[in-house]
Amino acid sequence: MENIVDIVFATANEHKAKEVAKMLGPEYNLLTLRDINFTDEIEEYGSTMEENARIKARAVSKMTEVPIISDDSGLEVYSLDMRPGLFSARFAGPQKSAHDNMDKLLTEMQDISDRAAQFRAVMALIIDGVEHVFEGIVKGQILRERHGEGGFGYDPIFLPDGYDKTFAELSQDIKNNISHRYHAIRAMKTHLEVQ
Ligand code: IMP
Repeated sequence: MENIVDIVFATANEHKAKEVAKMLGPEYNLLTLRDINFTDEIEEYGSTMEENARIKARAVSKMTEVPIISDDSGLEVYSLDMRPGLFSARFAGPQKSAHDNMDKLLTEMQDISDRAAQFRAVMALIIDGVEHVFEGIVKGQILRERHGEGGFGYDPIFLPDGYDKTFAELSQDIKNNISHRYHAIRAMKTHLEVQ
C-alpha cells in the first residue's frame, strides 16, 4: 500500500479545509490546527498574499515537524486596481461578513462596465524546513447581482470564464476543478510528487 502523507493545513476556515482535503486526494491526510492543538491567533500582518501565506505556515512550523501548508486568497477586480485583494475578507469591515462585502463591491461597481476579475490563491508549503510558494488564478466577471446559494465569500457574484453559472451555482466538484485554490494545489502536488 502507498504511504499516506500527513499535512497540516494552517487555516481556521472549515469550508476551505474541506475543499483542500478533496483536492489533495486520498494520498494525503489533511490535519487541521485543532488536530495538532494549535490554538494561537495568527496575525496576518503581511502586505501581500504571499507574505501572509508564509507568515501562517511559519507560525505553525514552530509546533510540528509535519509538512505544513497555508493559503491566502482574495478577489482582485481589474477596474478597481486589484482591490479588494488582500482585504477581501474584511472589505466591508472587521465583522468579515460575506453579505456586506458583496454589497460594498456591487455598490462600488455600480457604474463600472468593465467587470473583469480574478480570484488568486497563494499557497505556502514548509517541508523539511524549506519554504515553497505556489500560486493559482481563476478569471471571470463580477455580476450585478447574486446568483446561487452555495459556496462562500464572493461566490454568488463571480462568474468564471467559460461557464454560465456562478461559483455559488456550480457544483462543488466543478468549482474544485477550476478554482484558484485548485490551480495552486495542483502546482504544489506536482512539486511534492517529483521531490
Ligand atoms: P483568506 O484567504 O482566508 O484570508 O480569505 C480571503 C477572502 O477572499 C475570503 O474571506 C473571501 O472573501 C475571498 N475568497 C477567497 N477564496 C474565495 C472563493 O473561493 N470564493 C469566494 N470568495 C473567496
